Amino acid sequence: MRIVTRGADLRALSRRARQSGMTVGFVPTMGYLHDGHLALIRRARSEHHRLAVSVFVNPLQFGPKEDFARYPRDEVRDVRLCRDAGCDWFFLPRVRSLYPPGFRTTVAPGPLADLWEGTARPGHFRGVTTVVLKLLNLVEPDTLYLGQKDIQQARIVQGMVRDLDLSTRVTVCPTVRERDGLALSSRNAYLSPAERARATGMIRAMREGRALVRSGTHDARAILSLVRQTLRREARPDAVDYLALVDPTTLEPINRLDRAGGFLIAAIRIGKTRLIDNLFLKPPVRRAGSQ
Ligand code: AMP
Repeated sequence: MRIVTRGADLRALSRRARQSGMTVGFVPTMGYLHDGHLALIRRARSEHHRLAVSVFVNPLQFGPKEDFARYPRDEVRDVRLCRDAGCDWFFLPRVRSLYPPGFRTTVAPGPLADLWEGTARPGHFRGVTTVVLKLLNLVEPDTLYLGQKDIQQARIVQGMVRDLDLSTRVTVCPTVRERDGLALSSRNAYLSPAERARATGMIRAMREGRALVRSGTHDARAILSLVRQTLRREARPDAVDYLALVDPTTLEPINRLDRAGGFLIAAIRIGKTRLIDNLFLKPPVRRAGSQ
């Protein structure tokens, strides 16, 4: 595995590989890697000749009062995990090399960036689209791997790829969870043991919503009211930034689940930690003749 810090070097490695007929998979991360990241890395590894992983805590996607400075970092461990997972190019750029003095241009992500995470974190998705486009221009991968954990990010990046005619394919991989259901996240490291116990209430509440859908309820108000009640009881959140049932493609709120299904999305605060999660809900298929 090569550790690469200069974008130009990464581009040269990738171009050379592709010129000799190889395909390239790419997994962008902010590091402090966990099994969720590793699932993306393994999938990319299995589908391509060459694999690039980037670790970059992108200052552009953090608000002034957010956790950029204290975001957990462990580059030595990340290097080891990526090497063990068969990564070819470990890209570790410095902030100054991706954003040198005079850096001005950003990518405006469109209206979906103003919903949900965008309301709570103004400017966040502009930072995401900008860094992802820069990374795609350096790696020029055949496939970009993203996690369903950040479904709004995935939809916005898919929109950018489509709208700006990028040739990269986007693959969205399922959310990896702890045994008790909590979605893996680098930010889980912030939770005290008592907060960690409450955090699992978020997925428990969402799974109650899923059970209600399976029992035949499709009305968003009924589903959300049960989920909100359970969430308040089980997670005792200090704030609920949003809880919504949304269209699986546009992420606009829906009143009723139809056959296309929908995402139940939530962001809550427990103590100082902000957690997000989502669950795809789909009404059960009823066979002809059944009620
Ligand atoms: P991050 O390091 O948080 O920016 O995440 C890097 C990539 O890993 C993003 O595409 C995330 O959606 C994805 N990811 C983060 N957590 C998980 C998880 N628990 N399961 C699957 N993918 C994840």
